Amino acid sequence: MVLGNINNTRVLVTGAGGFIGHHLVEALKASGYWVRGVDLKYPEYQKSSADEFELLDLRRWDSCLVAARGIDEVYNLAADMGGIGYIATNLADISRNNILINAHMLEASRLNQVKKFLFSSSACVYAGYKQKSADVAPLKEEDAYPADPEPGYGFEKLFTEELCRYFWRDHKFDTRIVRFHNVYGPLGTYDGGKEKAPAAVSRKVALATDGGEIEVWGDGEQTRSFMYIDDCVEGLLRLMASDYREPLNLGTEELVTINGLVDIACEIAQKKLKKRHDLSKPQGVRGRNADLSRLRQVLGWEPKTTLKQGMPIVYRWIESELQKTGRIPHRARAKAH
Ligand code: NAD
Repeated sequence: MVLGNINNTRVLVTGAGGFIGHHLVEALKASGYWVRGVDLKYPEYQKSSADEFELLDLRRWDSCLVAARGIDEVYNLAADMGGIGYIATNLADISRNNILINAHMLEASRLNQVKKFLFSSSACVYAGYKQKSADVAPLKEEDAYPADPEPGYGFEKLFTEELCRYFWRDHKFDTRIVRFHNVYGPLGTYDGGKEKAPAAVSRKVALATDGGEIEVWGDGEQTRSFMYIDDCVEGLLRLMASDYREPLNLGTEELVTINGLVDIACEIAQKKLKKRHDLSKPQGVRGRNADLSRLRQVLGWEPKTTLKQGMPIVYRWIESELQKTGRIPHRARAKAH
């Protein structure tokens, strides 16, 4: 998909060593853009196709000035983030790291005369009191206020959304604000505590022996919606090409319980597993779904990939990684097919 005028457009992707950033760099390169990737690290599972890839700590003001030099469009995806276990226990570090990255990247981009700046916000900005039931009303953009976001990570995202608005108000600096709802796909973290539910569930199912047990955080009846990475990248390109400056949901409306997600993974793996629910583990809000009315209205488009289509791709990828690293034998694969 090619959107906008790509002739000589120089794009910066921060967080290009991360999951969404890496996929975005590949899509931008495939569309013909000149791309600079910046991160603390290179992508873990595949080499980046970026024209330039610089290792910089974007909490530092001088690094942000270097990153934004000669750039037309910025996709600011760099963030200290992880799954619910990680963001629930590192409030001070996450808040400090992300506020530094975002405040410095905005101002460095403005001073470098960047034409458009996209900030990656999150469904974690939504008010907790609206997410108390598993059978939740889908969240509309205005449901972020009156504010009661996820402590730390969500509060910082909500404030940076405001900062983007102030930069437009005071400096006419052109910003886009996307609120992602749980993105999943291959080449994403699947172990170590920073992984999200689809990857964690796939890993646990792949590692389990048929007939054995799988640990599920909480009672498993908490609900979420998940967006496949290809849809996420397409949505980002479409939003950047639009002239919409207010926060916009990007996700799906396909609500699933975590138990339901485990069942999908078990079906893919052709394994029967008993769920062992650990109620002491964090489970985040009780229910969360996206309302995509505004996305459809603004972009005339919405994500299409269902969990039944996307999960097998992620499961197979994680399974092959576990085989490569010797954590499961190759014969496990033969059974699953
Ligand atoms: P990720 O953790 O895979 O990627 C983030 C990248 O930022 C990492 O590679 C990390 O090394 C880099 N980074 C962190 N601190 C940095 C620093 N000081 N300087 C330079 N780079 C730094 O996460 P992701 O899933 O690709 O998420 C991308 C963006 O989307 C983030 O802003 C995140 O908050 C947002 N988001 C993601 C999801 C999701 O489901 N994946 C949901 C909501 C919001």
